[in-house]
Amino acid sequence: MVTSTGHLSADTAALHLRARLLPEDRETDLWIDNGAISREPVDDARTVATGGWMLPALMDSHLHIGVAEVGGPLDLDVLERDLQELARTGVGAVRVLGSPQPLPADALARPGGPLVLTAGVPVAAPDRFIPGWGRRVSDEELPAACVAEAGHGWSKIIADWFDDEGGYGPTFSATALTAAVVAVHGRGARVAVHAQSAAAGRDAVDAGADTIEHGMHLPWSVLPDLAARGGALVPTGGVFAALASAMTDDAVPSAMRRWYADGFAAHPGLVRRAREEGVTVLAGTDLPVGALVDEIRWLIEAGLPVADAIGAASWTAREVFDLPRLRAGDRADLIWLEHDPREDVELLRTPTRVILGGREIR
Ligand SMILES: [Zn+2]
Repeated sequence: MVTSTGHLSADTAALHLRARLLPEDRETDLWIDNGAISREPVDDARTVATGGWMLPALMDSHLHIGVAEVGGPLDLDVLERDLQELARTGVGAVRVLGSPQPLPADALARPGGPLVLTAGVPVAAPDRFIPGWGRRVSDEELPAACVAEAGHGWSKIIADWFDDEGGYGPTFSATALTAAVVAVHGRGARVAVHAQSAAAGRDAVDAGADTIEHGMHLPWSVLPDLAARGGALVPTGGVFAALASAMTDDAVPSAMRRWYADGFAAHPGLVRRAREEGVTVLAGTDLPVGALVDEIRWLIEAGLPVADAIGAASWTAREVFDLPRLRAGDRADLIWLEHDPREDVELLRTPTRVILGGREIR
């Protein structure tokens, strides 16, 4: 429970909920004992819900936390605010795809807070990423740098960026990308690749990247390969939509305007095609914190069925990243709503109940 001082108090008494569980869509009893899910009755459990709908707590598969200013240092006060905001709104898991500095270890899985997967500091080429952010390396240095940043299971590569002529293209060779992915996989970690050009997107998939971030201009021809090895696409369409009108301004170089407009126009079709080809599509918001339901809406507008779009921000993401998802023994991370969120995804902005690590947050 969030107290008036904003701190999370210990509340680990056994709980019981009976509600229609998504995605199975079956009336289900869940008990929570010592912070974990039980599918068997637990003595003296307090029933906190009967009726309504419940689902695994939400997940944002691409965001950045603790950012007060783009290009600035990690801000620990903002990090605290972000973690509390995520918990309060039922976002019980996040994948942080790059931070200005590594996140403090105590932020990654605190009681009553979201589970945080993190890719360390993003790895980028000199002069080809947001000034002030990223570990800057040459082609030759890319594999070792990616391994060094993959300590929490993920490494993030910025595989393309703006160039001096207003164009947008690859920042590393295909050979270096492949060597980096092989090196990170060799350590048992995975690789997320920022790609917003056809060439870097193709190189990233050929290299064996686990997830393609943004994926603007990604050629459809690579989708079967990505699907075949269980790769995922995180289109972050909502953040592109938010920038779309600014990118039509005359002050933006014309080549850049065209790159953006063409990529953005093609993005919904890419998402639909990815799904048809068997690529898992996940919800990620990038920046700022708090836009996950906007991304669910964008995915629906792009053409995903409503349940798939909610799953992209909950059970599907949790399965891809092997996170708790209400199996017996899992950390008890769920949200409960009085009404069916498939009828109105706006309900997901303020879930009636949020339980993280077995604690009632809301
Ligand atoms: Zn990002």
